[in-house]
Amino acid sequence: MKIPFVSFRPLEKELDRDLRQAFETVYTNSWYIEGEEDAKFEKAFAEYVGTDYCVGCGNGLDALVLALKALGIGDGDEVIVPSNTYIATALAVTYTGAKVVFVEPDIRTYDIDPGLIEAAITDKTKAIMPVHLYGQPCDMDPIMEIAGKYGLKVIEDCAQAHGATYKGRKIGTFGDAAGFSFYPGKNLGALGDAGATVTSVKEVADKIRAYGNYGSDYKYHHIYKGNNSRLDEMQAAFLSAKLPHLDRMNEERRRIAGRYLEGIKNPQIILPYVADYAAPVWHIFAIRCERRNELEKFLNEAGIGTNKHYPIPMHLQGAYADLGFKEGDFPLAELISATELSLPMYYGMTDEQINYVIDKINEFA
Ligand SMILES: *Cc1c(COP(=O)(O)O)cnc(C)c1O
Repeated sequence: MKIPFVSFRPLEKELDRDLRQAFETVYTNSWYIEGEEDAKFEKAFAEYVGTDYCVGCGNGLDALVLALKALGIGDGDEVIVPSNTYIATALAVTYTGAKVVFVEPDIRTYDIDPGLIEAAITDKTKAIMPVHLYGQPCDMDPIMEIAGKYGLKVIEDCAQAHGATYKGRKIGTFGDAAGFSFYPGKNLGALGDAGATVTSVKEVADKIRAYGNYGSDYKYHHIYKGNNSRLDEMQAAFLSAKLPHLDRMNEERRRIAGRYLEGIKNPQIILPYVADYAAPVWHIFAIRCERRNELEKFLNEAGIGTNKHYPIPMHLQGAYADLGFKEGDFPLAELISATELSLPMYYGMTDEQINYVIDKINEFA
């Protein structure tokens, strides 16, 4: 049996007519940037998340950069990010001119450990960027408490967690702003690159929109040295076609995760942990295994696609060599990098496929 790590086909087949209709609508209107589709999706997505505003942009990285810039973060500032995340989180901080400060995760949840944040705060710290990694919501109460105590901004990186809730409340509504990615493989994916920032502060939303549109508040009037990062009409229309199905797709991921959690019984495997405050959306089903590379080879040879999130921690990447870190500086991030393996997880996986993955993992000696 061949099981890809991810496949968009099952959903695309179901929504085939809607997606083609979305293309038709935009193409017939012949209007491609800053139009009705963009406005329509932004309104629907803000409503979905539960914020007052949503501003579409080109991708998830830009969503975070725009949020940071709109909140006044830049040269000379420090921003706390988890030591284990996709590098986009850190790069967003770097692009503003601020310095990234890594904080280790809780080894059970893989999300930033709130208990370690205070020790990383200096008089230059301006913000915390919690990442709801793998679709598991961060422990937001203590994070917001620390932010309040030190007057820090909170920018949630929601790129992997569309629809996840913390104590029953949607992630993306806790911080001053939150960035989402609609990269095709995310829980809500466009048919190309796309992203959005959400916030409930009008001035922040206005700034984000201006920064992403050449710093322009109205046509040919430029108040900031802005960027060009807008959500194009075509992607907005595709996203509007998919959004009504997001909860159903997440439910399906929960069902698959439930089957994995129940069926995988190999003592060499550490299964994901779900905190009592969390309703995750399983962007990634991350297991850990001491003999990760052997397990990966074994599964791949059995036709099962896997992935590693992420094989090299950020502090050891060439891109951040200037920070001067070495092996051993962030042992938990390094441990996760060395032992994590991501299993197939996508809407439309069949029971036969799920059972096959479980059986193969249990067979691994
Ligand atoms: C995907 C991702 C991003 C960046 O999103 P893009 O749309 O690819 O730019 C940022 N943060 C995390 C945690 C991500 O997984």
